[in-house]
Amino acid sequence: MELVRLGKTDLRVTRMGFGALPIQAVDRDSAVEVVRYAYQKGFNFYDTARGYTTSEGDLGRALKGFGSEVIVATKAKYKDMEQLDKSFNTSFDNLQRDYIDLFQFHIVNYDHELEEILKKGGPLEYLEEQKKKGRLRHVGITSHRPKMMLKALPTGKFETVQIPLNYIEDEPLDELIPLARSLDIGIIAMKPIAGGVYTSNRAAIRWILQHPGVVPIPGMCRIGEIDDNLQALDAPITEAEINRLEADKKELGTVFCRRCDYCMPCPNEIEASFIVRSGMIFKRAGWDKMEQSHIDSFTKGLACTQCGDCASRCPYELPLTDMVIDESRAMLRKGVEQGLITEDEFREKLNAAGLNEGEG
Ligand code: SF4
Ligand code: SF4
Repeated sequence: MELVRLGKTDLRVTRMGFGALPIQAVDRDSAVEVVRYAYQKGFNFYDTARGYTTSEGDLGRALKGFGSEVIVATKAKYKDMEQLDKSFNTSFDNLQRDYIDLFQFHIVNYDHELEEILKKGGPLEYLEEQKKKGRLRHVGITSHRPKMMLKALPTGKFETVQIPLNYIEDEPLDELIPLARSLDIGIIAMKPIAGGVYTSNRAAIRWILQHPGVVPIPGMCRIGEIDDNLQALDAPITEAEINRLEADKKELGTVFCRRCDYCMPCPNEIEASFIVRSGMIFKRAGWDKMEQSHIDSFTKGLACTQCGDCASRCPYELPLTDMVIDESRAMLRKGVEQGLITEDEFREKLNAAGLNEGEG
């Protein structure tokens, strides 16, 4: 695979990287197998995070002994120095390498978070110490807010920036990417397929690849996904593919779930992230795919207390506090149409939750 220079890090990473978040969803042997398959297929750049449960450990097992043939990035959200120290050392042990190539501050969305990172004697200095000890090579930053990164990058403290970038979420193209290029900061595109909401992952990745130096890291956990995504490298994006992305954009609007699951878990065990994207799932898969177990999930969704916990964790600021109930009700209505519950049962469920058909 073609190699590209990751900004001032001088790391030579493959044109497309391997997003390792989803491997936590498969069994441990399969996770190792899929990472090794990616390596065989030419990927040299792997991105994980301390917060992706088993992902770091599986990457470490899969890539153990590969040394400088692979480039491994991880990240952690800063809470306090004790936690950062623990987090860094856990990552270091999990990855089983002589050094971590790139350690990124994970999801820096607000001014106070950036100030904390930069403070004297703070986390950035801690990572600089790790560099001096030879345990770390480069420091980067990630965010879901391009505007926040417009403040972070001019500090000169970060060598890479990782932001969501895809056909719908294209705001970084306006100012952030030109700024990063002018400062020679490596640009990593997270969520290149927006959690799989596009009707063609290949088109979505090709759209990113047309931007020089921007390295997409689609999340993968199956061998078939690796093969499919690699096809994006075969040719430039076509007009037909752009039209397809545009049609997806019109269908999705701006308020749509990216399947990141940061909103989970709900203290009341409501499947909030599934509920808010279920309309799109069944619209595409066919309403006849709805089953009794889904009816049970939507019924539970009606009991949402609107505590706002999930909404406060959604980086895309989806109005989950209202959406969970609204979508649960709408999906139960679809369940009536599909013959999974009767009209009377539907009304009973609403009554039990103290709702009626028109309430938000
Ligand atoms: S708002 Fe509802 S779905 Fe979200 S965390 Fe609270 S109870 Fe759960
Ligand atoms: S609702 Fe928000 S936090 Fe939850 S999965 Fe969707 S985009 Fe992610």
